[in-house]
Amino acid sequence: NTQILLKSRPTGWVTPDNFERTDADIPAPAEGQILLKTLYLSVDPYMRGRMNDVKSYVPPFQIGAPLQGGIVAKVEASNNGKFAEGTYVSGMGDWADYMVTDGSGFTPVDPDLAPLSYNLGILGMPGMTAYVGLKGVGELKDGENVFVSAASGAVGQVVGQIAKNMNCHVAGSAGSDDKVAFLKDELGFDEAINYKTTPNLFKAVREANPNGVDVYFENVGGPILEATINVLNFNARVALCGFITDYNATLEEMAPGPRNLVVLVGRSVKMQGFIVFNYPDLCKEWVGIGAQWLKEGKLKYRESVAEGLGNAPQAFIDMLKGKNFGKQIVHVSDA
Ligand code: NDP
Repeated sequence: NTQILLKSRPTGWVTPDNFERTDADIPAPAEGQILLKTLYLSVDPYMRGRMNDVKSYVPPFQIGAPLQGGIVAKVEASNNGKFAEGTYVSGMGDWADYMVTDGSGFTPVDPDLAPLSYNLGILGMPGMTAYVGLKGVGELKDGENVFVSAASGAVGQVVGQIAKNMNCHVAGSAGSDDKVAFLKDELGFDEAINYKTTPNLFKAVREANPNGVDVYFENVGGPILEATINVLNFNARVALCGFITDYNATLEEMAPGPRNLVVLVGRSVKMQGFIVFNYPDLCKEWVGIGAQWLKEGKLKYRESVAEGLGNAPQAFIDMLKGKNFGKQIVHVSDA
């Protein structure tokens, strides 16, 4: 039973040396427990925060213990009447081939609803985040103008498609020409910009949002936030979902805050941060809507799949650097 442990806490960028691989026997489930075989695990930006020893909305990873994150697993053996052998679950699990648990925090998933890995993406936490940010925080209405950063990622691609399904004008930013082409040609974004190569970010954001922006879904922070503030409409809403520009930076290295916050005053803008799990009703609502839209062909979902548990650390590091194209997951084993 291979496990990936946290060996040391990173300062700045995460490196492979921060992880350690161990092998142990497959654990046996005690009374009331189940044995889970990991099929897929999720690597997500918030995990970078859990590598630091600071108090946050999720406790830090412990040195010498397996990292944890979203997993989809098969119930390999069960001493718990709530979980039948051979069924599938998702929840927060160890970076390991196998683990035992009493099942708390795990929910059954239906393999016929969508590919199992989608429970870590479009029908899981990232999809819920998109819906919560747009509806719960952004109060998005049909036909408004939406801009989203990190638009081709796990959350961003769902944000854009929800907004398109609500007849909005949708624009996004991403870090490569391939990602930009995907947003426009595959997902139906009205406009998309490559923030890395555009010579003038302020001009590019303005041109991508010809009617201004009513809801800005912020995944990134830094220069793109400042450029977008300039084009916010009267009564616009800014849903602060994440600031990935800062996750690997020390305080001194962080991008300076936007210089143009004064715009929010005159244009009566609401800017609000949020954590997806504080909106359980909307999360549940999304799983129903998302599954239905997938069935009707109203949603697409792109994944980047790394092969094997041993590649999870590198997949995580690569995702933080933008090498992922779509939701980054790790395929650990077949059912
Ligand atoms: P993604 O799949 O979007 O992967 C991260 C992406 O961030 C990369 O692919 C890269 O795309 C982009 N990126 C990395 N570094 C930079 C940079 N310096 N400047 C601009 N873009 C960068 O991740 P998720 O969709 O899972 O997460 C997106 C955001 O949502 C994160 O900030 C995350 O923390 C946040 N989040 C917040 C939640 C909440 O409850 N508030 C819940 C879930 C996620 P590119 O090539 O385009 O640069």
